[in-house]
Amino acid sequence: VTGMKNISRSKRFFKRTAGSVKAVDDVHFYIREGETFGLVGESGCGKTTLGRCILRAIEPSDGKTHFRDRTGNMVDLNTLDSRRLRAFRRDIQLIFQDPYSSLNPRMTVLGIVGEPLVCNKLAGGEKLKERVRELMEMVGLDSRHLERYPHAFSGGQRQRIGIARALATNPRFIVCDEAVSALDVSVQAQILNLLQDLQRKLGLSYLFISHDLGVIQHISDRVGVMYVGRMVETARTGQLFARPRHPYTEALLSAKPLPDPRRKAERIILSGEVANPANPPSGCYFHPRCPYATDICRMEKPPWRAVGDDHYVACHRTDELELQGAAI
Ligand code: SF4
Repeated sequence: VTGMKNISRSKRFFKRTAGSVKAVDDVHFYIREGETFGLVGESGCGKTTLGRCILRAIEPSDGKTHFRDRTGNMVDLNTLDSRRLRAFRRDIQLIFQDPYSSLNPRMTVLGIVGEPLVCNKLAGGEKLKERVRELMEMVGLDSRHLERYPHAFSGGQRQRIGIARALATNPRFIVCDEAVSALDVSVQAQILNLLQDLQRKLGLSYLFISHDLGVIQHISDRVGVMYVGRMVETARTGQLFARPRHPYTEALLSAKPLPDPRRKAERIILSGEVANPANPPSGCYFHPRCPYATDICRMEKPPWRAVGDDHYVACHRTDELELQGAAI
């Protein structure tokens, strides 16, 4: 696709041998240069595994992740040997969920933020300090506090330190894994604004993983919805929230809190349990809980297909259904 950068199309299969669990199964999506792709779904649906597979922090058992390198060529990250992968890791970084446990309490801010630069032999001595000061200022922290330890900072400040560290190697693509979930709502908003400012200034692309629909709606240009390791729908954010085409997306959106508590919207209560990925149902994984399921849903896996501009869905009955969007 013209103009696309970073992960152009990824397809992941991840298996754990114990019980042969497919944590992520046959997932396809792309992320354009400078955009935020939000990934949403219930906990355990494979979002985090997918993010780690892209980074090869977990080795996928199969599939491809195409990434446009700095010379404009598409490279399949899964085929890189460890030396070339190390070079690519400068371009692809991760921001963790928990700013309390993700920073080493025995390291100073200088050590934490500067570590990727030292490991990649990109800076040392005074140059290292200068770069760390610059990174601290970029994330809105006082650059005089390089010798302080993580415990001297609040949760929001710690997450800013984590972001500074992720930016150290000048990456172009960042996986934000529940990056604001552990923070208070007011601090969440500040961190989301910071991530958006940095994206504009540095031309970053984000894969933003969250279970929080409000956060996903706020930050994402496009959204992907996962259910039991499979992607069930991707679309531009406005389109997905206004006109979902998959029954699971509809149910997920109906649980989103309304901005005006006097308004009422029909909440769809799903019956049954989330499918067990070690022993998933036949056909469409969602069929035991789907109010629209028919025989074909129980027998055949729904194909992944385009249903509009930038809108893809895996549902046999999507053309017949009039699904309800989120109340705005
Ligand atoms: Fe529901 Fe069938 Fe669509 Fe699956 S394929 S979401 S069971 S209607």
